[in-house]
Amino acid sequence: MKTADIRSKFLNFFHSKNHTIVKSSSLIPANDPTLLFTNSGMVQFKDVFTGKDTRPYKRATTAQRSLRAGGKHNDLENVGYTARHHTFFEMLGNFSFGDYFKEEAIQFSWELLTTVYMLPKEKLWVTVYFEDDQAYDIWKNKIGVPEERIIRIGDNKGARYASDNFWQMADTGPCGPCSEIFYDHGPEVWGGPPGSPEEDGDRYIEIWNLVFMQFDRDKDGVLHPLPHPCVDTGMGLERIAAVLQHVHSNYDIDLFQHLIQAAARETNTSDLTNNSLKVIADHIRACSFMIVDGVIPGNEGRGYVLRRIIRRALRHGYQLGQTKPFFHRLVADVVAEMGAAYPELAEQQERVVAVLKLEEERFQATLEKGMKILEENLATLKKGDVLDGKTVFTLYDTYGFPFDLTADICRERGVSLDEKGFDIAMQHQREMARASGKFKTNQQLSYTGDNTDFQGYVTLETGSTIL
Ligand code: ATP
Ligand code: MG
Ligand code: MG
Ligand code: MG
Repeated sequence: MKTADIRSKFLNFFHSKNHTIVKSSSLIPANDPTLLFTNSGMVQFKDVFTGKDTRPYKRATTAQRSLRAGGKHNDLENVGYTARHHTFFEMLGNFSFGDYFKEEAIQFSWELLTTVYMLPKEKLWVTVYFEDDQAYDIWKNKIGVPEERIIRIGDNKGARYASDNFWQMADTGPCGPCSEIFYDHGPEVWGGPPGSPEEDGDRYIEIWNLVFMQFDRDKDGVLHPLPHPCVDTGMGLERIAAVLQHVHSNYDIDLFQHLIQAAARETNTSDLTNNSLKVIADHIRACSFMIVDGVIPGNEGRGYVLRRIIRRALRHGYQLGQTKPFFHRLVADVVAEMGAAYPELAEQQERVVAVLKLEEERFQATLEKGMKILEENLATLKKGDVLDGKTVFTLYDTYGFPFDLTADICRERGVSLDEKGFDIAMQHQREMARASGKFKTNQQLSYTGDNTDFQGYVTLETGSTIL
């Protein structure tokens, strides 16, 4: 089943269950200034869940373009390292606004997976929040999942904490337990079932997360039952596509294989398994959609996230031996894959190409020089060593290497970065600029550290909380 068919089968299934098909919203949240990017399907419905907004429907279904780079959810550091993470991905979802609750939500998901997508039942595992006996009973008695494949998460016996299967919108407001559905990709892949110490492996992959908004948390932390509980679910399109196309990695699905071939074409790479191609394929989607939604490369906030992603892609191209602008030429391939589902992408193709090309030309001038300096420094270091903060700052300040770009390269060599030294060098430079009466803080990029939400180069798994 092609990725495009999987998407439409999902939407049509929920349409047949009286859900209104709602268009994906922008990657820039319309109603939430605290959120950098739309990172899940529920974002456009946030005010509907809290009751601030109403819609002419009580059931909705979407294929939502989502981005997890920068902000609270950051999967940028996972790209190229796991089989299941992208920066940009599509989240398929069904939503109930005070209409159906746990039983139907669970039944719908099971029906879709086992009768429309025809997945073998014995490959599916589920988790529930450890106190959620209701969900446990539905899975066990109504659906018939054997007890050994229903895992209670959060009793602190397993590897994960309670918060991982308990979702909340914020410190106060709607919240409730989750139930996740995992697919077992088989013993050839390393990893253990959810909740086990080996769950970080890629054998058991979370495909769908069902959130049951059941309570309203007040400012003292007390949970009050919501008069009209809601449902919010999210399934990664690329993950279910991997399952349905009998491949393990998201990067092996039809859509990604085409983009990887395109990246190979533009970088003259013959080895299609090269990891850099995956990163480039991931990043061209993210960058194209960010630009479509109005982000342009810049020095702070959303624009700096975009710049960081572009520059990461360019350095992977450089690593493959491509020293000329190439990245913008992949936009046509993204349009070929996704233009039918997202007409706005096709409409803005030329603009996206132009924005990327300009940014590429800009970075090209310093990328090579910066890489030489970095390579010289790395040649003197061995695994486990730390690259000094001053060098990291020079790369940043003079050559336009965002901190996380340098970190990404160093990570491949097992070298870490002196972040403190970097901060001190930055501070020193600011003071010098101030003293000399120049308020412009640097020549390349004014990294303030405020908006980019850099979280170190090892992502902290924040679990199932969607926002
Ligand atoms: P994981 O634990 O694998 O990182 P998650 O628990 O962070 O996933 P959710 O926040 O529950 O993910 O999002 C709902 C669904 O969206 C997931 O079950 C998964 O199918 C998909 N998904 C989440 N993050 C990504 C990503 N970075 N790339 C592709 N799909 C994703
Ligand atoms: Mg995650
Ligand atoms: Mg998870
Ligand atoms: Mg989850």
